[in-house]
Amino acid sequence: MTKQAFIIGSGPNGLTAAIVLARAGLRVTVLEAQPTLGGGLRSSELTLPGFVHDVCSAVHPLALSSPAFRSMPLREHGLEWIHPPAPLAHPLNGGECVLVDVNVRKTAARLGRDEAMYRRLMTPLTAHWNDLMEDVLAPLHWPRHPAAFARFAVMAPWPATVVARIMFRTREAQALFAGMAAHSFLPLEALGSGAFGWVLALSAHAVGWPVARGGSQRIADALVSYLRSLGGEVLPNRRVDSLGELEPGALVLCDVSPRQLLRLGRNRLPDWYLRKLERYRYGPGVFKIDWALKEPIPWRSAECSWAATVHIGGTLEEIAESERAPWRGEVSERPFVLLAQPSLFDSSRASAGMHTAWAYCHVPNGSRDNMTARIEAQVERFAPGFGERILRRHTMGPAEMEARNENLVGGDINGGAADLRQLFLRPSAGMYRTPAAGVYLCSASTPPGGGVHGMCGYHAARWAIEGMRLTDRAGGL
Ligand SMILES: Cc1cc2nc3c(=O)[nH]c(=O)nc-3n(C[C@H](O)[C@H](O)[C@H](O)COP(=O)(O)OP(=O)(O)OC[C@H]3O[C@@H](n4cnc5c(N)ncnc54)[C@H](O)[C@@H]3O)c2cc1C
Repeated sequence: MTKQAFIIGSGPNGLTAAIVLARAGLRVTVLEAQPTLGGGLRSSELTLPGFVHDVCSAVHPLALSSPAFRSMPLREHGLEWIHPPAPLAHPLNGGECVLVDVNVRKTAARLGRDEAMYRRLMTPLTAHWNDLMEDVLAPLHWPRHPAAFARFAVMAPWPATVVARIMFRTREAQALFAGMAAHSFLPLEALGSGAFGWVLALSAHAVGWPVARGGSQRIADALVSYLRSLGGEVLPNRRVDSLGELEPGALVLCDVSPRQLLRLGRNRLPDWYLRKLERYRYGPGVFKIDWALKEPIPWRSAECSWAATVHIGGTLEEIAESERAPWRGEVSERPFVLLAQPSLFDSSRASAGMHTAWAYCHVPNGSRDNMTARIEAQVERFAPGFGERILRRHTMGPAEMEARNENLVGGDINGGAADLRQLFLRPSAGMYRTPAAGVYLCSASTPPGGGVHGMCGYHAARWAIEGMRLTDRAGGL
């Protein structure tokens, strides 16, 4: 009889795990607590009717870099990527803007004295991007592409501030690298923070930073449609509170955070493992605003309108200060803001002439601070008159985030702190495997961590298939 597999949670990792298992011939059922599917891929009319906002993720270099997604016919299932003219804009005081072009040479040409260095650093790894991603978006292993991986591994462990100051001399290149590295949620002085900067900078040149036409929900819709075409079942409004609710003997993959696994598995997991899950550390949270706008954002530098993503925070020093604050339990007065303006390139996001924008900044885990005024002041700083264009705003702090998706513990959007220790061995040395037979973890709290790439689900499913084969073989002896 065909083996049954249950996936708890329909985020990108849950859906990817389900697809890998369905392709291996298992009977797959995804159980999702919320009425809508997709976890961090949901889109919704958060502000006004006709304005489609990405509730969580909006910009998708990691989805395009993902070996798992590349193996799926998602375009046939309705997914269309939109590439803005430039992946990223980073405004600076004085009306200047560092614009990242997909082309390394064109980007470097804007960086003055850092032109040659930028080209030297970015060109070789951009050329081997797909190989590199097979090794980077994976649990610890002997690299399949040692040459590319070794080059990356030499650069990756260093703190972002060290990289920016040693490699670059201009405030433009330093600020650019700091903004990329701030996606780590780590203080930029922390070991490993530079790795995020490299991955994001390289991805801008290798694959671009696209948005999904119609909203990130379309990525989830395509994954669900492909899964259903393989015979998989996806059920919304099906919260699982205990592993005991599921058919005995079925394979179970949990797209949940360690805190929830504690609750789900209390009766099936040994005390030593529960204690490890209890000790798992979460990183800073986010405070997010979605705006319905009557006109585009009036950037002082027109080039800021060429990219869907804008990094707002000024210089390396300012960004570094902003990213230190949440780790001290404080909010920054001038926070580093990640802003997306997808409607400039996707007219389906708002009615004619109107626009949407999405922005968040980092705050201490579980913070109750309202960052609306501070985020909007940062946008105003580079786009005077922005406030007059707001029709309606919708805000979410860590508590609202967690209420919409239990995986966002204290507003942590990466499934747990991604410092060097927890980046490689998340949530424990067993990674996807739990001590309960046939129960695996497949969320962003496993390697390679946060982001929309599905690779946690992909590897967890492969481990589960391997585990099943070993059990069958042992049973047949
Ligand atoms: C504000 C924000 C902005 C982001 N921006 C980006 C971005 O631009 N680009 C990018 O690549 N990434 C971004 N991310 C990160 C990305 O969304 C996540 O890393 C990714 O969604 C993690 O996927 P996942 O499958 O592990 O979990 P999730 O996407 O969180 O999905 C987990 C699912 O499991 C369900 N679930 C939980 N518990 C249960 C239960 N007991 N029973 C049933 N169902 C359950 C949840 O409801 C949820 O649907 C962002 C995240 C947030 C919150």
